[in-house]
Amino acid sequence: MKDSEEVSELQDAVSQLLARHRSVLDCLTKHHESTSRINRAFSKAVTSCGCISINANRQNFPGPSSGTLEDCPKHAHSHLQGRLCASCYEVIEEEMGNHLFYLTAICDLLEMNLNEVIKNEYSRINTLGPYFFT
Ligand SMILES: [Zn+2]
Repeated sequence: MKDSEEVSELQDAVSQLLARHRSVLDCLTKHHESTSRINRAFSKAVTSCGCISINANRQNFPGPSSGTLEDCPKHAHSHLQGRLCASCYEVIEEEMGNHLFYLTAICDLLEMNLNEVIKNEYSRINTLGPYFFT
């Protein structure tokens, strides 16, 4: 996997903009807050707008005698119905961008390269294949 030029440019830009939130405590708490804001925007898409809905129940994975671990994704359901409208999409996309900003800022403060983080995660996923669980 090659380094993404966009990711490198994002990290450079975030590094230059970290004047106000230079403290790692600011970055950690803003990153945490951004997760809540994504969840709030997601919930509002369901409860206020209604463009998507959630209908959740137990996942019905096949038993060991009737399927393999590789078959599990075919049986997993997202529990989502509908599609985001343009307005909700825009709000959630903006919140995800804010989340990415603070994740990048944390990387920068720790002198980590976001491209390396992405590449290493991609490598772990590919190595573990169907045995990768989150
Ligand atoms: Zn909507």
